[in-house]
Amino acid sequence: MSNISKPEKIPFGYLERQFEDIDPYLQDLKKVVVSTDLTLGKELTRFENAFAEEVSLKHVIGVASGTDAIMLALKIQGIGLGDEVITAANTFIATAGAIAMTGATPVFVDCEEGYVIDTDKIEAAITPKTKAIVPVHFTGNVADMDRVTEIAEKHGLIVVEDACQSILASIHNRPVGDWGSATCFSLHPLKNLNVWGDGGLIATNDDHLAEQLRLFRNHGLVDRDTVAFFGHNSRLDTLQAVIGNRLIPKLREITNRRIQIAQKFDDAFEQLDYVDVPTRRDGVRHVFHLYIIETDRRDELKEYLLQHNVSVKIHYPVPLHLQPASQNLGYKQGDFPVSEKQAARILTLPAHPYLRDDEVDRIIELMRSFR
Ligand SMILES: *Cc1c(COP(=O)(O)O)cnc(C)c1O
Repeated sequence: MSNISKPEKIPFGYLERQFEDIDPYLQDLKKVVVSTDLTLGKELTRFENAFAEEVSLKHVIGVASGTDAIMLALKIQGIGLGDEVITAANTFIATAGAIAMTGATPVFVDCEEGYVIDTDKIEAAITPKTKAIVPVHFTGNVADMDRVTEIAEKHGLIVVEDACQSILASIHNRPVGDWGSATCFSLHPLKNLNVWGDGGLIATNDDHLAEQLRLFRNHGLVDRDTVAFFGHNSRLDTLQAVIGNRLIPKLREITNRRIQIAQKFDDAFEQLDYVDVPTRRDGVRHVFHLYIIETDRRDELKEYLLQHNVSVKIHYPVPLHLQPASQNLGYKQGDFPVSEKQAARILTLPAHPYLRDDEVDRIIELMRSFR
């Protein structure tokens, strides 16, 4: 009508498009509600097995969230009060929160150009109290896991991978999760495989650890009347597993579309002087949960894109060591120069699988026309 000149908004989120037709999901949910199989049960087991197959890992345990996945994976391996756990300074707050919830202290290490932990800086952060490293495969990129493993073995540390943003990522076809003792995934509505609320998964190739985690997420109950050890209630909601079961067959296609869009952006933005695209490491299958570029003119570019109806975001404007939550950890401005510099320069563009080709092209055009 009157706003023909204003282009349609390119959304950052995609739930409206993804769940345009919710009837099939509702029918699945109805069946399970009628069956009254509402905690654990067949649907959850089916989802855990399907996920294990997709990520090429032996065991998968559904839990209440990605945050719980990290917390439980650390706690079950004895991490707690008095221990230190190393992670990256630029991660989402949940990684540090999960470490803190075990009773341990998060210890930060700077990240590198591709937003994953800088493995050259890990050893300087190790103290006699260090018990574990939680590398974060941030943005869908993969941390240098051979190097992390080497350092962990040398110092006798446990490795738990935070793969909440990197389902189906790999290095030379070796999947995320194949290095750590346990690996954590999130099913949050904004993650690459999402459900209708919170959910998480822990994957492990270790039979004993898998068995312990299955007990731990369900009060330590071996059966109705036998408690092996005191545990938590952090089961993946069976109704969420129903949604997961309907979405998991689309996971590969969704992931490929993300990679395809990112490739198109990479090719276009490499030609723009004002934009820095991070170097893509050889052999890494980056799944682009977030598509981030950098520029000295970040705030201007952000305004420009927003004005042209493209939703963009910053992940994240304040690194963890400078958050109020970290005030007792003894960090200060300047401690992690790469994370700090990135925080001032990064911008996340919409690159989700529900973008249409003409929308991808419009974003590229706008990036080219920015002066
Ligand atoms: C989303 C996320 C988490 C936490 O997952 P939730 O399911 O939201 O609890 C942890 N780490 C990273 C890197 C994440 O992106």
